[in-house]
Amino acid sequence: MADGPQGKRTYLSFDERTFSCRMSLGEVLLPDVIIIGGGISGTSAAYSLAKEGLAVVLLEQHDLAAMASGWTLAGVRQSGRHPAELPLAMAAVQIWKDLGAELDADIEYRQKGNLRLARDEAEAEIISRLVDEQKALGLDLDFLGDNNAIRAIAPAISNAVVAASFCSTDGHANPKATVNAYARAAERLGAEIRLGERVNDMLVERGRVVGVRTPTATYRAPSVVMTTGIHTAALLKPHGLSLPLALRMVTVVRTRPLPPVFDQVFGTARAICAGRQEASGRLRITGGSQAWQGRVETSDDGQPVVRPPTSVVQGVIERGSFFLPAFGEAPLEDVWAGLLDMTPDGLPVIEATPEIEGLVVAAGFSGHGFCLGPATGRLVRDLVLKRPSNLSLDAFRRERFLESDHGQVEPTLHG
Ligand SMILES: Cc1cc2nc3c(=O)[nH]c(=O)nc-3n(C[C@H](O)[C@H](O)[C@H](O)COP(=O)(O)OP(=O)(O)OC[C@H]3O[C@@H](n4cnc5c(N)ncnc54)[C@H](O)[C@@H]3O)c2cc1C
Repeated sequence: MADGPQGKRTYLSFDERTFSCRMSLGEVLLPDVIIIGGGISGTSAAYSLAKEGLAVVLLEQHDLAAMASGWTLAGVRQSGRHPAELPLAMAAVQIWKDLGAELDADIEYRQKGNLRLARDEAEAEIISRLVDEQKALGLDLDFLGDNNAIRAIAPAISNAVVAASFCSTDGHANPKATVNAYARAAERLGAEIRLGERVNDMLVERGRVVGVRTPTATYRAPSVVMTTGIHTAALLKPHGLSLPLALRMVTVVRTRPLPPVFDQVFGTARAICAGRQEASGRLRITGGSQAWQGRVETSDDGQPVVRPPTSVVQGVIERGSFFLPAFGEAPLEDVWAGLLDMTPDGLPVIEATPEIEGLVVAAGFSGHGFCLGPATGRLVRDLVLKRPSNLSLDAFRRERFLESDHGQVEPTLHG
C-alpha cells in the first residue's frame, strides 16, 4: 500500500504484466481486503471499502452481475419486508435516491412506487393486514380498497384486481448498470477487479483468514469478504462453517421494448408474480418460485445459465397477463431463470464470523438482496473495519441456524 492522490492509501501495481511476472517469481500480492463475488453485494462492498482508502481486490468467477444480480427483477422495495430487514431496506432507499450521482452513472433508478395486488377478498385481507403491520413499523404506505383507486395510480393494471397496497417510495433500477457502476466507481478509487477468477478455497491459519486460492494464483490479505450468493455454503464448508441454503428457481420473461405503460413495480398477495417496465421499455415479469436441484449450465460466452421448463414459462405469461394485460399482447424477447439463495428464515447472513477472524460473510439474501445492496456494502465495510454500524445486525448472524430444526419459509418475491 502507498499514499495515493489526495493522501489516500491506494493499492500499488496489479497490472497483467507485473501480476504474471510476480507470480512466476512465486511472490504474492497483498491487498487489505479480498472480496469474492461480483454481484451487487460484492461490488458495493468494494466501493465502500475503497472509499475508505483500503486496497481492495475483487475476484469474480464469471462477468460482473452474472448470477442473481443480473437475473433479478431489480425491484427496490421496502414494503412487505420482514421487520428485521425493513430498517436495512429503508436505509438502502435513502442511498438509492442519490446513487446514480454518487457513482456518476445512469443506473435507471426510478422511485415510482410498488403495488401489491389482490385478486379476491381473501388476498385483500392479506394485504390490508400487511399495510397495518408495516405502518406500525414506520413505513409510509396505503391500502387501496378498490380497482378505481389502483388504476388512478397505474392505469395498466387489470380491472380484475380488487385491492392493493401502495408504497410510493419503492422503485426499481437497472441491475447490470448498477453493478457495473459500483465496480467502475470502486476502480476509480483504486480497487482491482479480476473477472474469470474463481476462488477454489479460502486460506486459514491458526483461526485467521490469510487469503484465497484460485486455480492460478494465491492472494493474501488479512480480510476476506464472501459475497458469493448460492456458492457461499460450499466455500465455508471445508472450514467447518455451515450455512443452510436451499436453492429456488424463479423464471423471468421479458418483452421487446414498448411505449411507456407502467411506472411502478407490482407484486402480488401470494408472491406468484411480479413485474416492472424497464427504462428500455421492456416489460420484465417474474413468476413465483420452485424448488431447484438442477444444474447451472454455461452459455457460449462462459456465463452461468439456468433454463426454466416451458410449463413454468407458460405460467409466468398467464399470470403476468392477468395482472398486467399489456404484457399478454407484447412480443417476447427473452426468457431466463435465476436462483435464490434461501436461508431457512428468509433473512440474510451479514456477519464477521466468530469462528474465523478476518472473514466477513454477506449472503443468503433469499430473493431480497438487490434493494439492500447499497446498505450491504456499507455494513460489510463496517464489519471489515470493526466499527459499529448504525443498523442492528443481530437478526443476521449465522448462529441462529445452529439449531438442527430451523424449518424453511417460502420466498416473498414482490419486486
Ligand atoms: C429472478 C429473481 C428476481 C429477484 N427480484 C428481486 C427484487 O425485485 N428485488 C430485490 O431486492 N431482490 C431481488 N432478487 C434477489 C437479488 O437479485 C439478490 O438477492 C441479489 O442480487 C444478490 O446479490 P449478491 O451480490 O449477494 O449475489 P450474486 O448476484 O449471486 O453474486 C454472487 C457472485 O459471486 C460469484 N461467485 C460465487 N462463488 C465464487 C467463487 N468461488 N469465486 C469467484 N466468484 C464467485 C458469482 O459468480 C456471482 O457473480 C431476485 C433474484 C432473482 C433470481
